[in-house]
Amino acid sequence: MSTALKSGELAARPARERTAAGVRSGSHPAVGLSSRAEAPVTCAIVVPCYNEEESLPNAALALSGLLAELRERGLASAASHVCFVDDGSRDETWNLIAALAASNPDFRGIRLTRNFGHQGAVLAGMFECDADTIITIDADLQDDERCIATMLEKYRAGMDVVLGVREDRSSDSFFKRFTAEAYYRVLGWLGVKVTFNHADFRLMSRRAIEILKDYGESNLFLRGMVPLVGLRSCTVPYARRERLAGESKYPLGKMLGLAWEGITSFSIAPLRIVSGLGALIALGALAVTGWAFYVRVIGGGFVPGWASTVVPMYFLGGVQILCLGVLGEYVGKIYLETKRRPRYLVDVDTRRNVN
Ligand code: UDP
Ligand code: MG
Repeated sequence: MSTALKSGELAARPARERTAAGVRSGSHPAVGLSSRAEAPVTCAIVVPCYNEEESLPNAALALSGLLAELRERGLASAASHVCFVDDGSRDETWNLIAALAASNPDFRGIRLTRNFGHQGAVLAGMFECDADTIITIDADLQDDERCIATMLEKYRAGMDVVLGVREDRSSDSFFKRFTAEAYYRVLGWLGVKVTFNHADFRLMSRRAIEILKDYGESNLFLRGMVPLVGLRSCTVPYARRERLAGESKYPLGKMLGLAWEGITSFSIAPLRIVSGLGALIALGALAVTGWAFYVRVIGGGFVPGWASTVVPMYFLGGVQILCLGVLGEYVGKIYLETKRRPRYLVDVDTRRNVN
């Protein structure tokens, strides 16, 4: 079994080797930009799937119809395909994917050895497919797959990254809409460059994918990593639909996890805020000391109160624990990064006969 495993190529390579190979900077020059507009490009539509037996048949139907249309319009080549990445599902998802791949060359299936989470599954699809363009979209097709034609047109016009942006979120619950939008704003304040209302529905060119492979971090937050690639990028607006079948595979806990990942992987602002808070409290304490001195010496009275002693004590205790927690979070991140564990592991690939 162990020889059959194929890990995320870059993740398995040590950092020193990658640096020595010179892939860190300036090694991905633009090639043949003009050829984009001439021949149809090969595109791989990557679909992460976790317990999606209810959504899959519908997604397969819609995406194969879309591929036919893209080919007809000369936007996608005959070799274009849909790649379903099974992220360790426990239902019939993999059997469905394997059956689709066996019966139709438009479909490819990759099964990961276990559940790596949405970000890991998306990364696996992006790195394992070698098409000219990679498009990532969720299996529930909440993101409008009809935008893919526009994305390919933008690619042909010279864009390397095309981001799908949710213009209309009325299909989301008030809670989800409110928290998601507030989160994008907080990320902006903390200096993390993300596109407002863009999740993981995007097109990336081969060049952009190759550059992304140089980002070896284990703590994945793709929508923060992609802007770091640079290159020419643009957005395509769409209205987010309701999930057609099954239920969300992103419960509140996982969503909060990803949100926290986004903040702590891309910003050290919380550490700065904590330091600022510490300094502010220390200054406040100094001022209070001065005041107590004044009351004692000049005013002749005495510092009254039990509350003024006990309340700050608890407050400072709380702030200290909070600061330790934030520090611990970053130390934990460093710990996980130093392990350099693979970010995904492929168990079966229907195209490569890895099984
Ligand atoms: N997903 C995954 N691994 C996970 C959780 C989710 O591959 O651990 C996939 C899921 O199958 C879907 C996509 O990620 O294709 C987004 O999940 P979902 O639609 O449930 O999230 P929501 O739209 O509710 O945020
Ligand atoms: Mg969804």
